[in-house]
Amino acid sequence: MDVKTICVVGAGLMGQQLSLLAAVSGFEVYCADTSRDALKRAEDFVAAWLSKQKAKEKITDAQTERVNENLHFVVGLEEAAKNADMVIEAAVEDLAVKRSIFAQLDRIAPPHAILATNSSYLVSSKIADATSRPDKVLNMHFFNPAIVMKTVEVVQGPHVSDETVATVMDVARALGKNPAKVNKEIYGFLCNRIFSVLTKEACYLLDQGIASVEDIDTAVKGAFGHPMGPFELLDMTGIDLEYHLGMERFRETGNLSDRPSPSLTERFGKGDYGRKTGKGYYDYPKK
Ligand code: NAD
Repeated sequence: MDVKTICVVGAGLMGQQLSLLAAVSGFEVYCADTSRDALKRAEDFVAAWLSKQKAKEKITDAQTERVNENLHFVVGLEEAAKNADMVIEAAVEDLAVKRSIFAQLDRIAPPHAILATNSSYLVSSKIADATSRPDKVLNMHFFNPAIVMKTVEVVQGPHVSDETVATVMDVARALGKNPAKVNKEIYGFLCNRIFSVLTKEACYLLDQGIASVEDIDTAVKGAFGHPMGPFELLDMTGIDLEYHLGMERFRETGNLSDRPSPSLTERFGKGDYGRKTGKGYYDYPKK
């Protein structure tokens, strides 16, 4: 299938980057959010990124103009999804919200449109039955910062057709990514499962007073060549996200060791979600 027009649902941290990425890659993009403030922040983010790229001479005036022409920020799904060949949903990580969005998308988007979710851990079979096209509903999971990170996980649940997977793999490549195909649905897919093991142990060591946040991060970076330590990464991806991930896994397994760690729970309870709130494992004073 030839994908030309992409609708991105959600203009938050991920949605704004996915919209920019798709527009820079030559797609016509409609970015929808229920919040005008979020849309304004996304527009500002795109303008700042374009002007930075221009200053570094990494983008021409003509390319900037094309991105601005191809990228539309709109309130609500009606206008955003009506001509979409593909939708990438990047709204909040809440199953009920996602199911409601997908039911609306099913009504609005053309019958051929693929409906992908960027969910961090919710498998698409929990969402697909809210639509009449489960064969076209799948996980397409990007990593933050999506404009930079090369990996995209494309997950083939039992309801997803081979054609849908092939198209989404092609779209990922057209966005400049190296897609990893995940053959079976599994909670958290590949990378978040692996990341969870690392952060769980890092939190355990911190909670036991074995080492400080800074020393654990420094050790991991130096020993494994990771560009960021586990706590730096948690602050970037969002402590709220990791908390919900742990709670969801705990609800599924009933295993007490799957519960989020005390240090994570404490920060979640205070609303210290990391960079986005200015405080997490580290402080981020406003510039
Ligand atoms: P965010 O909170 O920054 O943004 C979510 C946006 O969705 C908000 O602007 C909100 O107004 C909007 N929204 C809520 N309900 C909506 C609706 N019904 N219709 C349209 N927009 C709606 O969240 P985020 O960090 O960008 O995460 C978005 C999704 O991407 C989540 O599913 C998350 O799990 C996933 N994800 C996040 C990261 C990360 O590092 N933050 C990485 C990969 C995947």
